[in-house]
Amino acid sequence: MKDCLFCKIVNGEIPSNKAFEDQKLVVFHDISPVAPVHVLIVPKKHLKSLNEVGPEDADLIAHVFKVAAQVAAELGVSENGYRVVNNCGKDGGQTVDHLHFHLLGGRYLDWPPG
Ligand code: 5GP
Ligand code: ZN
Repeated sequence: MKDCLFCKIVNGEIPSNKAFEDQKLVVFHDISPVAPVHVLIVPKKHLKSLNEVGPEDADLIAHVFKVAAQVAAELGVSENGYRVVNNCGKDGGQTVDHLHFHLLGGRYLDWPPG
């Protein structure tokens, strides 16, 4: 997608601080972290939001959560715990229209969020 910020990060047009990359995903540190650990797990495939995920993406979504646990361990937050969230659409707080999951940790995370 030509004008998509995260597609540009995926293809290296815009730099990012990467924590993990494979054929399906890139994980990079959020530019405005809201927790000591705050990375974004971004499928390389351009899907606008969770609403566009179909049955053909089942393996991809399973992979997202497997990589989330792996990166959480690598970033040292496994033991105390962490949160993986997706913001979908306007009311969900989504600001970048390319599917991504936030991995947050390194402090106690209030629940429910505001
Ligand atoms: P959303 O609000 O869509 O769930 O999450 C988008 C996230 O992308 C936000 O947490 C925001 O700080 C982050 N973000 C926006 N632009 C950039 C950027 O250019 N680089 C990085 N690393 N993160 C970004
Ligand atoms: Zn995109």
